Amino acid sequence: MFQLDDDQQALADAVAGFCQETLAPTVKEDDEAERFRRELFTAMGEQGFLGVPTSEEYGGLGLGYTEYCVVLEEIAKVSSSYAVTVAVNGLPQIILSMYGTEAQKAEWLPKLASGEALGGFALSEPESGSDAGSLKTTAEKRGDTYVLNGTKFWITHGGVADVYIIMARTGGPGPKGVSAFILPGDAPGLSFGKKEEKMGMRASPTVELVLEDVVLPAENLIREEGFGFTVAMAALDSGRITIGATAVGLAQAALDYAGAYALERKQFNKPIIDFQGVGFMLADMAMKTETARLLVHKAAWLRDQGQPYSDIAAMAKCTATDAAMAVTTDAVQVLGGYGYTREHPVERYMRDAKVMQIVEGTNQIQRLVIARHLKRKYSAGA
Ligand SMILES: Cc1cc2nc3c(=O)[nH]c(=O)nc-3n(C[C@H](O)[C@H](O)[C@H](O)COP(=O)(O)OP(=O)(O)OC[C@H]3O[C@@H](n4cnc5c(N)ncnc54)[C@H](O)[C@@H]3O)c2cc1C
Repeated sequence: MFQLDDDQQALADAVAGFCQETLAPTVKEDDEAERFRRELFTAMGEQGFLGVPTSEEYGGLGLGYTEYCVVLEEIAKVSSSYAVTVAVNGLPQIILSMYGTEAQKAEWLPKLASGEALGGFALSEPESGSDAGSLKTTAEKRGDTYVLNGTKFWITHGGVADVYIIMARTGGPGPKGVSAFILPGDAPGLSFGKKEEKMGMRASPTVELVLEDVVLPAENLIREEGFGFTVAMAALDSGRITIGATAVGLAQAALDYAGAYALERKQFNKPIIDFQGVGFMLADMAMKTETARLLVHKAAWLRDQGQPYSDIAAMAKCTATDAAMAVTTDAVQVLGGYGYTREHPVERYMRDAKVMQIVEGTNQIQRLVIARHLKRKYSAGA
């Protein structure tokens, strides 16, 4: 399960080659300018990286989550912002693949998988983050349409996406009153508020969505009214695997950079890697990265086997993103003062790592999910 086969290794090599050639030259500049380049997204689509698990019938590669993780890890080694772009663009594909009608799939999946369309996922609001079930955006049924009003916050690809899956309230309070809709990016009444100025992941745009009497045809509803929270949670279960894979790539990049530096840098007439204090730090970084990768691949494998994976996905997300935070922080330490400057990428790795402990459910919420699974398991006498 944990050794890449020849096809998976070839895929990893192809992605790595593309990323070095196409993404690497702009990473530093775009981090500084907070710039997202649509042409890089399009180029990834041309390579087939955007629809790895989407079925071939709808323009994807029809591969598993294991391969999806391989692709994301390689992209994240070069740019975690673009790995997040691939992962977030994957959320509408996951949702439509699982719950879409034939017409919804036919309209959007080929575009999202090829990069013709960029996708987003709009759940969070100014007053509902972790407590997503309390969201306030409304969708009122009027004849054959729904009219949406409200504000969505923190939306990755806000303002640049062609389509969002949006969660809005059609019923009473709580998760059962939430429905999911397909929201085209050019829908009249949809406008965009402030773009966040962020610590890290700066090539990935995060923007507020404002909905004022946005009219959607009833066929844009996903499944039925009240099904939206199920849709959102299923997407997040899968999304946690992809954020985990992104974190593993970032941690590996930090370890590789710090390891190579420690071999070159001499103090007291010795490469610093030969000082036990540095060598042990690198050993801990390697252990955390490998542990995270194993757990991410276990979650991907369970999903590919059609087995329950929600608790393991939460463990994978939490472990991998905590590992990325620790490993990138230690990478800065290994480089000493140089690590704190923008001359080296490790300070960017550290800034990029932080947000991964927050998105797709904070790591406190992951622990909550895992604890609930444990309670169910032990209550059932297992
Ligand atoms: C860069 C970025 C991109 C994002 N992209 C998207 C996107 O594309 N789509 C989208 O819908 N959302 C997106 N988000 C939103 C993200 O999912 C939320 O920020 C996250 O869910 C946390 O919500 P919050 O920020 O409101 O924090 P809060 O929920 O207010 O949490 C604040 C603190 O309280 C803790 N906390 C809250 N509840 C509990 C609890 N029950 N037990 C223990 N601790 C708790 C949290 O862990 C956290 O430490 C993005 C956020 C960022 C920063």
